[in-house]
Amino acid sequence: MTISGSNDRLAWQREGLPFNAFGAFLRRRFGGRVQRVSIDAGFTCPNVDGAVARGGCNFCDNRSFSPSRRVRLKRVSEQLENGIESVRRRYKTVSGFLAYFQPATNTYAPVDQLEEVYRLALRQHPDIVGLAIGTRPDCVPDCVLELAEQLAREHYVSLEFGMQTMHQPGLDWMNRAHTHDHLVNAIDRARSRGFECCVHIILGIPGETHEMMMQTATEVARLGFDAIKLHNLYAVQGTSMGDEVAGGKIKMMEQDTYVNTVVDFLELIPPTTVVERISGDAPPKYLIAPQWCLKKSVLKQQIEEEFQRRNSYQGKHYVAPQTDPNDRPRPTDNTPQSIRDQIDVRGRLPVLKIESAH
Ligand code: SF4
Repeated sequence: MTISGSNDRLAWQREGLPFNAFGAFLRRRFGGRVQRVSIDAGFTCPNVDGAVARGGCNFCDNRSFSPSRRVRLKRVSEQLENGIESVRRRYKTVSGFLAYFQPATNTYAPVDQLEEVYRLALRQHPDIVGLAIGTRPDCVPDCVLELAEQLAREHYVSLEFGMQTMHQPGLDWMNRAHTHDHLVNAIDRARSRGFECCVHIILGIPGETHEMMMQTATEVARLGFDAIKLHNLYAVQGTSMGDEVAGGKIKMMEQDTYVNTVVDFLELIPPTTVVERISGDAPPKYLIAPQWCLKKSVLKQQIEEEFQRRNSYQGKHYVAPQTDPNDRPRPTDNTPQSIRDQIDVRGRLPVLKIESAH
């Protein structure tokens, strides 16, 4: 791999990698292997409970986001202990863990309760080095960003925003119930607060052309995210999209097309952006299609080989935006009032049944 015109090469470039891979980034930052441990803290979602819509995204198996689930939840601390134990059985040399708040919308509760559950996770085990928190772009009022900023003074914190695409027809098709404006507003308020801003993208949304996906790549670059997760569209049982795929109404992307699209996409992304995922999948017993996404290591190898074949690398075609993302003004919070009413309130509401930290 040759990177022309670059005297000041980044660590991943010096290591000869084709892109700024997350595992290597974590090893450099924490001095060893760091693994995520997924936590279900009993959150629901404003796209399910009616705050902005009902039904949820068409790819999300959100049937379990109901109040009855919460009482059956294993306590967060127990989930973390079990998760850490199972990762340690799998990898002998793990030096740290990220508590990953993954299912549902993990910033959707009164901010006091968010603080309680995040701090509980951080205190749980000496090897927990930080948090990753998955959420929606319309669900991060300023009070949540201020909390993340506070926690990031002492810990690694990553806030993960589901963007999926910049194009409204795709957002509508997925029933995301937010607009691209919400995403722009969220990142412009979240950037440069000391925590990492990660963006989730889905490639292969029906009706999106290659050009449209590249427009999304350019938009991600323009907005200056710290990290990115790329997912192929995939369908699981129990979702409305799953029904459409099973009924032959939707065509999934072919494997070769996906490999090429990922490489095209990453060529447009700044070299400083950490690439946390290059594909997505689900447990085989739930996955409907495409089956090729189950072979993650094969996909990774094909993507690396495509970079090599092109003598290319992440950021090869990146063009810096006219306005540096760090110079973009911080806008007024546009979080919908119906969501803000659930978060920007004091005291405990019976949203989460977590073990009290006190
Ligand atoms: S916003 Fe997230 S949690 Fe809510 S329905 Fe969509 S994918 Fe599921």
